[in-house]
Amino acid sequence: MLSTIENRNRYLTNFLIRMITANIQKINGEIGNGIKLIAVSKTKTAETILEAYHAGQKLFGENKVQEMVSKQSILPLDIEWHLIGHLQSNKVKYIASFVSMIHSVDSIKLLEEIDKEGKKNKRIINCLLQIYIASEETKFGLNKEEVFNILRNPVLKELKHIKICGLMGMASNTLDLTQIRNEFKNLHQLFTGIKTTFFSGDPNFKELSMGMSSDYTIAVEEGATLIRVGSLIFKDK
Ligand SMILES: *Cc1c(COP(=O)(O)O)cnc(C)c1O
Repeated sequence: MLSTIENRNRYLTNFLIRMITANIQKINGEIGNGIKLIAVSKTKTAETILEAYHAGQKLFGENKVQEMVSKQSILPLDIEWHLIGHLQSNKVKYIASFVSMIHSVDSIKLLEEIDKEGKKNKRIINCLLQIYIASEETKFGLNKEEVFNILRNPVLKELKHIKICGLMGMASNTLDLTQIRNEFKNLHQLFTGIKTTFFSGDPNFKELSMGMSSDYTIAVEEGATLIRVGSLIFKDK
């Protein structure tokens, strides 16, 4: 016989799994084929991530290196881990063996470090350049001039263990939907310009990572290929 507490815990766990599953299915239904959902699992336990995994979710996003490393070490190996938070050069070595994509590249120095660690691990690491599109002072990212300087840097051609797959951006934290849409439009325009100028004929440059819980529908309308959604899946807000 199960105790009342065991019954209650089982009920709550089942409820959580159903909720996470329904949220993932709903978002995937909305965004359609060709756009990938990255479930942002920062602050969530490995157990919760496993529930989303059993609901079919294979792409997860983390913003802290240590947290990603400890989760990766105990969770299924076919999970694709996306680093979406600021990355310090001295921490690249901890994730280089497994990270699926680094969304937050913001300097040539960081690219050189990722390349070095990619080489050690005999793999090519997928990277996105993080662009500053918001009107807030606090967000990380490159402005236009900085991103063009990176792309023109002759060092870039020598980095054989990184692949620049596209751009990432975060819109302002505002209720002004027109502003958010314009920020995404600007990022898409920059993406198109960079693709034409620097990556014509390179099919790998194809990803536009933009949109979170509050604005992913706008991001999808404006051309996102990867969306990063956390709280809407795990309902912690
Ligand atoms: C936390 C985070 C997200 C997800 O935010 P939600 O509002 O929880 O969907 C997306 N991108 C980055 C870079 C984040 O840090």
